[in-house]
Order: sequence, then C-alpha cells, then structure tokens
Amino acid sequence: LNRRLAAFGTTIFAEMSALALRTGSINLGQGFPDTDGPEEIREAAVRALRDGRGNQYPPGPGVPELRAAVAAHQERFYGLSWSPETEILVTTGATEAIAASLLALLEPGDEVIAFEPYYDSYAACIAMAGARRVPLTLRAPGFRPDLDELRSLITPRTRLLLLNTPHNPTGTVLTPDELSGIAALAVEHDLLVVTDEVYEHLVFTGAHHPIAALPGMRGRTVSISSAGKTFSYTGWKVGWVTGDAALVAAVRSAKQYLTFVSGGPFQYAIAEALALPDTFFTGFLADMHRKRDLLATGLRAAGFQVYEPEGTYFITTDIAPFGDEDAYAFCRALPERCGVAAVPNSVFYDDPEAGRSQVRFTFCKKDEVLEEAVTRLGRLT
Ligand code: PMP
Ligand code: GLN
Repeated sequence: LNRRLAAFGTTIFAEMSALALRTGSINLGQGFPDTDGPEEIREAAVRALRDGRGNQYPPGPGVPELRAAVAAHQERFYGLSWSPETEILVTTGATEAIAASLLALLEPGDEVIAFEPYYDSYAACIAMAGARRVPLTLRAPGFRPDLDELRSLITPRTRLLLLNTPHNPTGTVLTPDELSGIAALAVEHDLLVVTDEVYEHLVFTGAHHPIAALPGMRGRTVSISSAGKTFSYTGWKVGWVTGDAALVAAVRSAKQYLTFVSGGPFQYAIAEALALPDTFFTGFLADMHRKRDLLATGLRAAGFQVYEPEGTYFITTDIAPFGDEDAYAFCRALPERCGVAAVPNSVFYDDPEAGRSQVRFTFCKKDEVLEEAVTRLGRLT
C-alpha cells in the first residue's frame, strides 16, 4: 500500500459492521436502512433487466432517462435548472462522485478546507489527489461552522471548499446565512466548492438549501447526491453530480478512468424514483423524524448526552456520563457489553482527542429494532 493511503486503514464502517455481525449485535453503526425502498422502484429495476435496458455499457454520462430525472428533481425541489446533456453526470454512488470531483479539480499541493468531523472518504480522496486537507472543526454542542475561522484558514494555496449539508455525522444543516457567508468567501477568494448533499431529503429542522443556487456559485460549485439515502437502496450505488458544464466535463474526465460508466439497469429504476410524488418524500421524512425522536429519547433515558440532529439519519452522542472512556474503545467493547454496535466520531477528526467522547448511532432501522437497541443500551452503567 502506498504512503498516501496507508494512513487510512480499513474504514470504520466495515470494522464496526463486521464486529456487529460477529457478535450478533444490533448494528446502529454503519448507515444503511433495514427496510428496502419502494417496491415499485424494485419492480422498475427488474423490468429494466428483463427488457435489456442497461445490460450493456450505458452512456458515459448516465442513461438519458436518469439525467432528465435528476434535472427535473432539481428544478422541482430547488428551482435549479441543469442541462441533462452537459450539466449532469451519473456516478457509482456519491462515493465515486466525491473521488472523481477531487481527482479532477485538485492539483498536488492544493489545500482543501473541509468540515471536521468528516465523512471518511473525503480525507482519503484528498490524499489520493495529492492535496492537503485543512479542517474547519464543528464543535459541540452546536456543531456550527465559525465563518471567521473559515476565513482565517484560507491561504493562497486554498483551491476548494468541501461542504456536506446535511452533515454526517453531526446532523448539522447549514442555514441560509451560513451558506451565504461561505459563498461570499468562495467568491472573494475565487474558490471551487464541492458539496455533498446525499441527505438532502432528510432535514427535520429548517430546510435544505443548495449552495449552487446562491449568487456567484453556479460556475464554481459541484453538487453531489445519491439515491442510496433518499430511496433506501444503498446497495444500488447510483449517484450523480450537477454543475456548470465545464466543471461536470472535468469530473467526467476523471470518471472515465475510474469506472468508465456506471451500472445500467438501476439507473432506469432511480429515474422513476426521482419522479415519485411529493407524498413519498414527505412520508419518508415523517417516518425518519419519528425514528429520530424514538432513538433520541431512548439514548437520553439510557444516560447518553444527545446532540439532536437537524438532518441525516445519525445521532451524535457524548459518552462522558459513562466515564472517561475513549469513543473508539467504547465502540469496540459495546457489542460485547450490550449487543449494540455504533461508530466512534473520534476517527472523523484529525486529532482523535477532539472527538474523544463522541459516539454516533443511526436510526434508519425498524421501530422494534430501535426499541430493542435502547432497551439493551439501558443496561449500560
Ligand atoms: N457522503 C456522505 C456524507 C455519506 O454519508 C455517504 C454514505 N452513504 C456517502 C457520501 C456515500 O454515498 P453512496 O453510498 O451513494 O456512495
Ligand atoms: N454513509 C454511511 C455511514 O456514514 C455508510 C458509509 C459506508 O459504509 N461507507 O454510515
């Protein structure tokens, strides 16, 4: 393994899911639903397979049906209009979109400012691009970005701001004021923005606002989303990039040599998913909102300090009430102690001490599973 990647080891999600499996624990670590998305969308995938749509290499930018559906979805929810021909690129999940964007846009030695705690692939992809990550730490209890601090981190080497809203793992949803402040800095310093918005439909407090819609941002923003979270098909790995034609062409150049094209039949099914009526999106959100409250209440009763998330399907907690244990050690021991798996936020910080007592739980699970999990967690002392 080369030096760039050696530092990253095995992702925490694989490690904790394997531990959950080995110990037969309830897995509230890795974020994936235990209930599949709409059946009609599954049927659409089966139809595509049977009809031979997408069984051979689909077009590089994605099948036209999906590109049109992404455009219609962005118009419907945000009033943003993108050309399906030149401003939309289908990727193999948001993960490939992140990798391709960073590999396409960064020069070795460039600095990238990214929120911390960070989703783990950001750090690895920045390193693979030979660039340097500069963390803007979101601090408990509010996990808000400090825009003065952001300004102070910008140097002549800064090339790109990597945003994530709603934010995994803290659940922070950037407000219109925060987004305007960030956009103003991007314009002032002529920075690119890559924004990961995979939880765009999971916002409980406030609303999701794409930074690409703000003045001066269209030409400098690459927006990323994915079907995994919104439609509960994380295994299908269908994602997409939207942005100005020149930026999307750059990302496409990198994608050509990563995967060439993305898998075919699921693209047709997700095209149908994006066109589901508003009731699907509001119903999904209401369901997740109830689950958030169920888990938050249970975690509080079990003794955790809960940071209520504004969005995503994760809750960050503080384990200080259980003693002075480090979050990683706590998560390694939790399955044996009580049959529940979680993820330590400490691994999402450059300095693990900064997230030493933070542990993340997901609530994208059946109510009875969440209830059983909090019963088990209630036995912790
Ligand atoms: N970004 C964030 C913030 C995530 O939590 C995830 C996890 N799904 C991804 C990107 C990756 O998405 P995908 O599964 O579509 O590759
Ligand atoms: N996005 C999910 C999480 O944060 C899953 C990530 C993964 O498995 N790579 O848990």
